[in-house]
Amino acid sequence: MRWTPGDRSNIEDMRGRSGGMAMGAGGLGVGGLLLLLVLSWATGIDLTSIAGGGSSAPPPEAVGTSGKVAATPDEERRVDMVDAVMDDAQDTWKQLLGGRYQETKAVLFRDSINSACGFAQSATGPFYCPADRKVYLDLGFFDEMHRKLGAPGDFAQAYVLAHELGHHVQTITGTESQVRQRQASSPASRNALSVRMELQADCYAGVWGYHANKGGSRVQLDPDDTEEALTAAAAIGDDRLQRMQTGRVAPERFTHGTSQQRVEWFTRGMRSGDPNVCNTFQ
Ligand SMILES: [Zn+2]
Repeated sequence: MRWTPGDRSNIEDMRGRSGGMAMGAGGLGVGGLLLLLVLSWATGIDLTSIAGGGSSAPPPEAVGTSGKVAATPDEERRVDMVDAVMDDAQDTWKQLLGGRYQETKAVLFRDSINSACGFAQSATGPFYCPADRKVYLDLGFFDEMHRKLGAPGDFAQAYVLAHELGHHVQTITGTESQVRQRQASSPASRNALSVRMELQADCYAGVWGYHANKGGSRVQLDPDDTEEALTAAAAIGDDRLQRMQTGRVAPERFTHGTSQQRVEWFTRGMRSGDPNVCNTFQ
């Protein structure tokens, strides 16, 4: 994937600021909490005891610190990539939704952040917060994707961003609130509805991929890029994560869909470029 650096107007840079402690996170991730469990499994450290534990305070000197951050050239390059992908994907949705589309930003953070959806840590993975309509991302997640989940490549990273932006589209179009209502009135269908939401976000990510492939404004795809995204989609299927975590698969606990489903829905969007093919609720 190639991209053109820009003015970073699609970024809200909170890397120099540390969030305080609060409980609970209610965002929509790309496979977040399960990933947390996988990382715990992979690292041998119980990360779940850290997330939302609330007992340990952040280092006092870090609270409220803002402004400049020490970052490697590699990390700065990633910031430009996130900006370019967000810009290109939002352009695509502006074309597809017209005046209904509302612009958003990717909030970059390190270690932890207090979002409108609650306290979140890097280990929970990237997520979209419907309450403030922003995408949240710790750039370190991309290293985890590569090293722990075997999904390298910048288009794999772009897929994750486009997936979160897919949740933004669901929020704008009212799908998100409809699903929340249905989940509240029918708790038994909670996970099944979550899977449909997540697969639709995968399909929407593919829709952007189609338009980027046609020669988007700031992002251009290379021939191998689709493969990178498919590898990433397969890497974060519920069945694979569960198998990595416990060696067993429990379909009733799926929240994001199987590897095969995630690949299928991304591919469907990527082939047609039409969000109407993304009706996972039918
Ligand atoms: Zn998601």
